[in-house]
Amino acid sequence: MSIGVIGGGFAGLTAALRLAQEGHDVTLWEKGRLGGQAATFAVANTRLEIFYHHLFQSDTSIAALAEEVGVGDKLMWLPSNVGYFADGRIYPLNGALDLLKLGCIPFVDRVRLGLVTAYLQKVKDWKKYESVTAHEWLTRALGKRAYDKTLGAQLRAKFGSYYDRIPMVWFWGKIWLRTTSRRSPLDQEKLGYFDGSFQVIVDALVQACSNAGVKIVRSGLSGITQAPDGTWLAKPEDGSSTTAVDVVLATVPSNIFQKLAPPLPADYVEKLDALDYEAAVVAILELDRPLSDVYWLNIADDDLPFTGVIEHTNFIDPAKYDGKRYVYLSKYMEPDHPYFTMTSDEIIDAYLPHLSKINPDFDPSWITNTWVYRERAAQPIIPMRYSERIPDHRTPLKNLYLANTTQIYPEDRGTNYSVRLGNDIAAMIVSDLEGRSASAP
Ligand SMILES: Cc1cc2nc3c(=O)[nH]c(=O)nc-3n(C[C@H](O)[C@H](O)[C@H](O)COP(=O)(O)OP(=O)(O)OC[C@H]3O[C@@H](n4cnc5c(N)ncnc54)[C@H](O)[C@@H]3O)c2cc1C
Repeated sequence: MSIGVIGGGFAGLTAALRLAQEGHDVTLWEKGRLGGQAATFAVANTRLEIFYHHLFQSDTSIAALAEEVGVGDKLMWLPSNVGYFADGRIYPLNGALDLLKLGCIPFVDRVRLGLVTAYLQKVKDWKKYESVTAHEWLTRALGKRAYDKTLGAQLRAKFGSYYDRIPMVWFWGKIWLRTTSRRSPLDQEKLGYFDGSFQVIVDALVQACSNAGVKIVRSGLSGITQAPDGTWLAKPEDGSSTTAVDVVLATVPSNIFQKLAPPLPADYVEKLDALDYEAAVVAILELDRPLSDVYWLNIADDDLPFTGVIEHTNFIDPAKYDGKRYVYLSKYMEPDHPYFTMTSDEIIDAYLPHLSKINPDFDPSWITNTWVYRERAAQPIIPMRYSERIPDHRTPLKNLYLANTTQIYPEDRGTNYSVRLGNDIAAMIVSDLEGRSASAP
């Protein structure tokens, strides 16, 4: 069968590889960068992700794929460190002892926070957390004072005005991920990164796709229509000729999918529309010296215009970048937030005055380059009781499938889960096609 895949992120590339390995004739269209949200750009004779990226030790699907496409030995597991910025100072936050010293909340609240976290690490039945918001559950468990200053601040940072509507299952998933990612609770956390950036696995995956016969077209699609005989017609944005395929798999965000596909039945559209996305704007600074000694700094101070400072070169050796330092200043926001449409220079200008709060010695002369990247569909905002409302991968239109980050649940989106999604959706399509040919006369 001929199969068209829309989108060359991890989900699309993985699915394309699997479908071609099963003998199908696969064409993949990618509008922007192969690698999607995990794509990279050139810095200091190497590559760096447009959005900060690392893996957890529980990310077994992507680790297995890396082995399969020949770059397993490039996946490094390195110690990392986390900090918490509140009341104008950085608190290290790398385990129970640091938590007990978290001076931005009273001691009794620190103990309570530790107990609540330890409790959540033990919970396996996540279903009960689908019907209660994280705001409500955590306020009750921690008390308002501790919640506002710690986990509430983190929810506000990630979800903006949606922060009090996020189901507890999302927060549970975060705790669960960090727990299963550690070999033992006392282990220092190690995170994964590809030596040479995520481009290493993207390139290897693209090569594996080509070897398996996938045709990769570097153009977006402007639409897909279904001919009376059921064949799908894929129309490229660059005006080149339409391609006819038997099956289409879309891995683009749901809002883009709805623009590309023919009108869909109202109940399916309702499911797609039940979930919106937070957008992200990420500024990257290249510095001639470190900003701090922390890799991952959560900002719990509403006066700062960014909510995360991720100093990549406190995780990966700066020697790999000719000694240069790379710092991501991250902010999630509603897509109508002014920052999403501000120019890159305006964003940098808005952020710079706040860096001296992180390091009082900071001087703009340390900056040797800057970049700003934006993503509209950065973070799915999961609604309550989502397990009852997830849009089916099999859309109501025959031979049209959807596999995107909104269908990753109860885990949060991530490259590992897009690889798993790519594997699963390819298996589903293959099994549907085999079922049909077996029942054909
Ligand atoms: C700020 C940020 C930080 C992150 N940090 C991490 C991290 O540390 N670790 C981690 O594992 N994950 C992280 N992620 C998440 C991870 O990158 C994504 O979940 C994953 O890459 C999504 O892959 P995907 O293939 O499902 O979707 P995407 O990567 O979004 O791929 C969809 C592709 O479709 C293409 N497309 C869109 N429209 C069209 C069209 N009309 N025609 C053809 N193609 C089209 C897009 O260009 C894109 O390449 C982060 C994401 C963000 C935004």
